[in-house]
Amino acid sequence: MAALKLCIVASEMMPFAKTGGLADVAGALSRQLAFLGHEVRAFVPFYRSIRENFKDVRGVDAVQGVPIAIGADRFEFSLLELDNGRKGPTVYFIDCPAMFSRASLYTEDPDEHRRFILFSRAVLESCQRLRYSPDIIHCNDWHTAFLPLYLKSVYAWDQLFARSRSVLTIHNIGYQGEFAAGQAADLGLGFSENRLQQSDLRAGIINPLKHGIVFADAVTTVSPTYAREICVTPLGMGMQDALSQRHDPIVGILNGVDYEEWDPRTDPHLEHHFHLADVRGKIRNKRRLIERSGLRFGDSVPLMSMVTRLAEQKGVDLLFDSLPPLLNARLFGLVVLGAGERRYREFFETLAAQFPGQVAFHRGYDEPLAHLIEAGSDMFLMPSRYEPCGLNQMYSLRYGTIPIVRKTGGLADSVQHFDPGSGAGTGVVFEHYDAPAVSWAINTALDWFADAPSWRKLMRNAMAQDFSWQHQIQQYDALYRRLT
Ligand code: ADP
Repeated sequence: MAALKLCIVASEMMPFAKTGGLADVAGALSRQLAFLGHEVRAFVPFYRSIRENFKDVRGVDAVQGVPIAIGADRFEFSLLELDNGRKGPTVYFIDCPAMFSRASLYTEDPDEHRRFILFSRAVLESCQRLRYSPDIIHCNDWHTAFLPLYLKSVYAWDQLFARSRSVLTIHNIGYQGEFAAGQAADLGLGFSENRLQQSDLRAGIINPLKHGIVFADAVTTVSPTYAREICVTPLGMGMQDALSQRHDPIVGILNGVDYEEWDPRTDPHLEHHFHLADVRGKIRNKRRLIERSGLRFGDSVPLMSMVTRLAEQKGVDLLFDSLPPLLNARLFGLVVLGAGERRYREFFETLAAQFPGQVAFHRGYDEPLAHLIEAGSDMFLMPSRYEPCGLNQMYSLRYGTIPIVRKTGGLADSVQHFDPGSGAGTGVVFEHYDAPAVSWAINTALDWFADAPSWRKLMRNAMAQDFSWQHQIQQYDALYRRLT
């Protein structure tokens, strides 16, 4: 079949810039689509951290010093290209230091919406100057959700985009990028301002994500269950009407796992490798993790872990009341790696102080440690309030680290509750979002751990799961072909 010309546009992308799963997905999607033979051009903002860490970039001659007006202010951007030796996708960076050279990828600055308006417009301006006519422009989350409207308004005159179709993937509907209606002029829509959501304008806001949902030619999200959940309250978070008014249903495609990064046989971050037939390396990683975390118990004690953004979505609230009594009642260790909101940080800091040698809290973002935790733990806890897809439970499965998950979104689609009788299933799945349910789940995991044959069976089931992108990418390919 004919190769397609694709633009993947994302505010973060591995290996250049990452705060969460979006980066993993955008990076993997770009690579996998290129492997399928498509012409893939990926666009990412040139953040300060990328400037510091990736020196092999060069300016693209045709796209230098391009002026863009955002409201009354004028900016200039240039396009940079990564020297990738012509393998895989072409990766472009939008370089506009005034917007992207800041301390972090995302900010609380008052011009946050403007940064991503500029980014979105710069992508289309770059395509024009490169004479690149994409079949598909694949946008991700609120940051790039105005692209579909731009294609249908400000840039509709350009024949270059006459056949271009837009796809919006929602990685997390909780982030919508709202800004004040008084700043509508920043969008530069001119006469097309009447296509903005009028009821929102009257309420004084502009919601980027909603415009993506309304104007994209297709909307997808990152698991089938989440696709159903967001069409109704409460998980639609205000977007349920816009989603259900679309003529086509939202498509749920479970994210894949990049097993080049996340496979215990080859994991570049691990000293000790292991696999289904020989898990001795896992014990060595466990010892290493226990030592590194300053825990004081032997490797026969079950070790539970979390690697997470410390945000309300992740369900840490449930642990406030459930973990202390569990830690008193049962012998197990807990290692948590996380960055984010202070109340959760303080909870884990206090817990580590209350249970020295039993609980360790690693504060911050640490990729190598995340790999050691996956490899060295026995069980991995994800009590999410909601979880569009979730990656760590899929990583955990491959590492024989039994996921304990709430039955929501991608967690429900990727983990099956184990039945010791039949020997089927891959983890512990609980339904209700409350402390008794999570306590039940943790107790269940600890009971199964104590029953060595059951646990071995569970580990074998888990490690045999395959969520590789090779399967998932076909679904994106089919969607693009339907649209074009
Ligand atoms: P989300 O995108 O909502 O944060 P996902 O499970 O989809 O959740 O993806 C999270 C990704 O970020 C995983 O690859 C996980 O390992 C990684 N991650 C999250 N927090 C940390 C941290 N503190 N240190 C290292 N990696 C982290």
